Amino acid sequence: MKRPFEIECESLRMIVFSDGVFSVTKEFFLAGAGNDQEVERFPDDFEVALNFVYLQIGGKHILIDAGFGETSGQESGHLLTKLNQSGINPHMIDYVVLSHSHIDHIGGVVKNDKPAFPNATHIISKKEWLYAEKALDSKSFKVLNKILTLLKVIERDTEILPSVLLKHTPGHTPGHLTVEVRMNNGVYLITNDVFNIPYSISNTNLRVVLEENPIKGVRTRNQLIQLAHKEQVFIHSCHFPYPGLGTIEKVNSLYQWKPIEI
Ligand SMILES: [Zn+2]
Repeated sequence: MKRPFEIECESLRMIVFSDGVFSVTKEFFLAGAGNDQEVERFPDDFEVALNFVYLQIGGKHILIDAGFGETSGQESGHLLTKLNQSGINPHMIDYVVLSHSHIDHIGGVVKNDKPAFPNATHIISKKEWLYAEKALDSKSFKVLNKILTLLKVIERDTEILPSVLLKHTPGHTPGHLTVEVRMNNGVYLITNDVFNIPYSISNTNLRVVLEENPIKGVRTRNQLIQLAHKEQVFIHSCHFPYPGLGTIEKVNSLYQWKPIEI
């Protein structure tokens, strides 16, 4: 078994686990591009990665999103198996941060109709909860209903541990959350679905077709890019190629994704 990508420093351990891949159409995944040549070169269908971050920090275990779980086919839903293979028992998880309510991020919080992480506080933004509630029949809302007793709804940016801040980064969905981890050796922003492909660092109009508010989406992307570039912050983006961690550099006047070397 190939070992998952891991960073260990001070009291932080970060591991990136793959949940698998899923197939998308260009029409769905790369909307808003205009006639950008770079985007035109993409095939009509392609596979997108699903990489999720586990943090061990200050003695606490945090999982940021849970993948498709049982809601998908063979290609994804492998996160729980990967956690177990690395010696991380789902009972150990203290917090599951739900970046947003799309099924590729929350499907895995349920296994055999029960909470997959039974001792974890599952955190979601209030705006996201209200958004999910609008689609009572959706897979996502049904999943959330199976973890109701474990759910904690937050109304504003919230520090869950002294160095772990949950920040509202709306656009993709109304209550989308980014996780900011501040350590002595650097700052990590787990940006989840703010960005869809690495090239969206250069063209911030790029979005999935169902982005709830593209104007806010562009604003959020630009804000995070400027912050990450200025402060030399590491960004993790779950749908970028594995492990999805990198920095942002400016070449001439264009921001570009720079994946970390592994
Ligand atoms: Zn997603």
